[in-house]
Amino acid sequence: MDIDTHAEDLASDLGVDKEEVKADLENLLEYSVPLDEATQSLRRKYGDGSSGGGGGAPKARDIADITPDDGSVTVTARVLTAGKRSIRYQGSDQEIVEGELADDTGVIDFTAWEDFGLVPGDTITAGNAGVREWDGQPELNLGESTSLSKLEETLDIPYEVGGEADLASLRTGDRAKAVEVQVLECEERTIDGRDGETTILSGVFGDESGRLPFTNWDPAPEIEAGTSVRIENAYVREFRGVPEVNVSEFSTVTALERSIDVGTDAPRLGIGEAIASGGMYDVELVGNLLAVRDGSGLIQRCPECNRVIQKGQCRTHGSVDGLDDLRVKAILDDGTGAVTVILDDELTEAVYGGDVEDAKEEARDAMDQEAVADTIRERIVGTEYRVRGHLSIDEYGANLDASHFEESDDSPADRARELLAKFDGQEVKA
Ligand SMILES: [Zn+2]
Repeated sequence: MDIDTHAEDLASDLGVDKEEVKADLENLLEYSVPLDEATQSLRRKYGDGSSGGGGGAPKARDIADITPDDGSVTVTARVLTAGKRSIRYQGSDQEIVEGELADDTGVIDFTAWEDFGLVPGDTITAGNAGVREWDGQPELNLGESTSLSKLEETLDIPYEVGGEADLASLRTGDRAKAVEVQVLECEERTIDGRDGETTILSGVFGDESGRLPFTNWDPAPEIEAGTSVRIENAYVREFRGVPEVNVSEFSTVTALERSIDVGTDAPRLGIGEAIASGGMYDVELVGNLLAVRDGSGLIQRCPECNRVIQKGQCRTHGSVDGLDDLRVKAILDDGTGAVTVILDDELTEAVYGGDVEDAKEEARDAMDQEAVADTIRERIVGTEYRVRGHLSIDEYGANLDASHFEESDDSPADRARELLAKFDGQEVKA
């Protein structure tokens, strides 16, 4: 949906002027407020969901029964997680608390626009909590029209309190998560933040389950390469097509005595599942190599910006003296989904069996640059490969930047033999 459609939907929901809503929406997005938060802010501004429309007290609901159609509800629940975060709203910073509530029927995300002092483990009744829809799911808005009370008794729930997670299970949009990780890489960077120049840390975290990039917006002294730390109240957002752990000024960082082990294997997923995860920093996929795409083999790059150029023309820098390079873009498919695998010069040399000079010679002999891509095609198309690397999902599609690319040892023929062996075994036993 584009901004126009969002504005129209909002305006008709709230019964206000579309242009006014659109201007507000654009303003918020300009300040990098995520779309869902922007929409939610506007719903608050124009007073949605608090009056309940038909009058009378909102209904007490089991969490599992709440639907996005409920204007507002009253719920009794345990606080599973609650994490503070700062967003920019109409030009100034506002602190919000995000997390999850649960009763014995289910779990629901919430955003609190006031500080109700929610602590994980608390049993609360939230009266007149607004319901909004995000990604097809209902979420609760706790605001100034919500009455919140803490209960003495503890509600029994079949969910664990606290946001303990491992890196492989984190997804974009997760909030108030706690992880124990080893800092694998860490560098200090100066960026143009929303309040001018500011220093941040960025790098890579690892645990037994996997690796993820991180940004620490308010550099914590405990975070440096080689250390192991526990982080509470981290949130996850997408950056360059992969989930990223965000450690903010509201996160708690504690140095750990013990060292967190980092696994050497990447998690292996089905391609469909990996795509559905919204991008992964380090993943292993196995599939059949269906095709080598255009722009593979011997290519030329712009010496200024390193982008691939066609016929000596860079889109940004015009006519340039291109630098020769090798690359493969190939389609890997496992029946559940397909990704474009990108091999850098080294991996391409390995599958081609030669370097740039060999490739130039082949192209000269054939009087056709495409000859190199054709040779690579003959070698790899139709074979099953195991590929490990960095999967990004964005407007450019699903791309796997390969760090490892090898023929799958569990080839279909091997699997068939294994299956036969198993079958024979059962025959003998029977
Ligand atoms: Zn260029």
